[in-house]
Amino acid sequence: MSTLQSFDARTGLALGAALPAPTAAQIDASVEAAAQAFPAWAASSGTQRATLLRGLAEALEADREGLVALADQESGLGSGRLNGELDRTTFQLRRFADLAEQGAAFAFTDDPAVAGAPPAGHPAMVRQRVPLGPVAMFSASNFPFAFSVLGGDTASALAAGCSVVVKAHNGHLLLSNRIFQLIQDVLRSQQLPAGLIGLVQGAGNEVGRQLIRHPAIAAGAFTGSTRGGAALQAEANARPRPIPFYGELGSINPVVALPSVLEARGAELAATLASSITQGCGQFCTNPGLIVLVDGPATDTFLPQLAAALAAQQPHGMLTSGLRSAFDQGVEQLLAAGAQPLVHEAGGAAAPRPFLAQIDAATFIAKPALHEEVFGPSSLVVRAGSVQQVLEVLQAVGGSLTVTLWGAEQDNTDNRALVRGAMAIAGRVLFSGVPTGVAVSAGQQHGGPWPASTQPLSTSVGDAALDRFLRPVCLQDAPAWLLARQGQPV
Ligand code: NAP
Repeated sequence: MSTLQSFDARTGLALGAALPAPTAAQIDASVEAAAQAFPAWAASSGTQRATLLRGLAEALEADREGLVALADQESGLGSGRLNGELDRTTFQLRRFADLAEQGAAFAFTDDPAVAGAPPAGHPAMVRQRVPLGPVAMFSASNFPFAFSVLGGDTASALAAGCSVVVKAHNGHLLLSNRIFQLIQDVLRSQQLPAGLIGLVQGAGNEVGRQLIRHPAIAAGAFTGSTRGGAALQAEANARPRPIPFYGELGSINPVVALPSVLEARGAELAATLASSITQGCGQFCTNPGLIVLVDGPATDTFLPQLAAALAAQQPHGMLTSGLRSAFDQGVEQLLAAGAQPLVHEAGGAAAPRPFLAQIDAATFIAKPALHEEVFGPSSLVVRAGSVQQVLEVLQAVGGSLTVTLWGAEQDNTDNRALVRGAMAIAGRVLFSGVPTGVAVSAGQQHGGPWPASTQPLSTSVGDAALDRFLRPVCLQDAPAWLLARQGQPV
């Protein structure tokens, strides 16, 4: 029988006993249990959904100390950050509970009949939504709570009326199993079927592939690397019956800092950027991996300020040894493509040193190797000759979770062009602050054109995340009893 092993992120030593790796038959059984639990959950009321989501939030809070300690051992992210992330996770669960209770999943459009010939005349129609079915949910390594077993994907899928099978991340296996036990206790106490939320795990990619290929799975929700997301999206598309696959992937998150703002607040912005680049050892999908500046005296003054602020940072260790070596490879790739180092202290230590390099805009645009995310405390400065060239740089990036525009306060032709250019490639455009930190709220959009996500029309964070798991259906000339349901499940 093959086994799985958790590791201490700081020491690299084995943590806890080996866990049995599930067989293919056990993985199928988890999906089948989720498929059996689905019809009753799809027919559940908003109150029932809210009760489950609130129960799950309470269970996390009741075990906070143990969960955070375990997450810290497996991820090395530190208890301050992990306590904050747990708060965010319970906030998300409760927010989706409120939305479920308010009937967000049952909202409908009433379109009464119009007498007369078509196209103006039409029958009575009601447009409402139905949950898709069991969702395969893939956890990310860098958010052991908020984008993992009980993260936003699971919360929004449950609120929509879907059952869920979670693929645990190998980077925090023990934490995933502990949270899964809490889930089972809550399901039992609410007399809900154990299969409503399943957990599968395994080394290598086969488990994920088997999960997304299973005929009973109706959608995939993934947070992770562009390469992993692309592979699983291809599996979802290759099924005899393809399914929606919501992949939240990597991103380089350009920050455009115009000369006016650098002249006014250069030193302060250098410190702000340096801390955003190294926060959590740079292991954020919204890490500012690209800084776009316009050549001139303000940029010449700013760059040494940024380099000094970054060199003074001391990032902690990375989540896994695999991500640590991937960081070195990413830095090597930037250097090989011609990036000139500004902060670069090579070293084999578990905690990487921050990396900063610069490149001219024309070379950046010409070399796709410079457009790839380097996951970790790294950023690339692109020096443009004009605002027009800044726009060409954004176009070359093509897709990003965020673009930040510093200094676009005036309504003028350049700033309008920059806002258009930023909106064309990003899910979220910021005009102050840094892209790290993604608020869970009604106005949030966390996604963006490829390679930021596989579905730029949807968001994985915020209230609208629920919409990913609901399919619209039009009821035409429906009988009175059905209309009286007002979008509620039948
Ligand atoms: P990852 O290596 O892609 O892993 C994510 C999940 O996908 C894991 O469960 C992994 O399982 C599975 N997987 C990866 N490649 C696969 C393949 N070829 N076939 C089947 N399954 C596969 O990502 P990560 O290291 O956890 O996270 C880091 C990345 O996530 C960064 O690029 C970061 O920017 C991105 N991220 C994005 C967001 C967002 O919201 N957009 C948020 C957080 C992180 P195995 O480990 O078993 O292979």
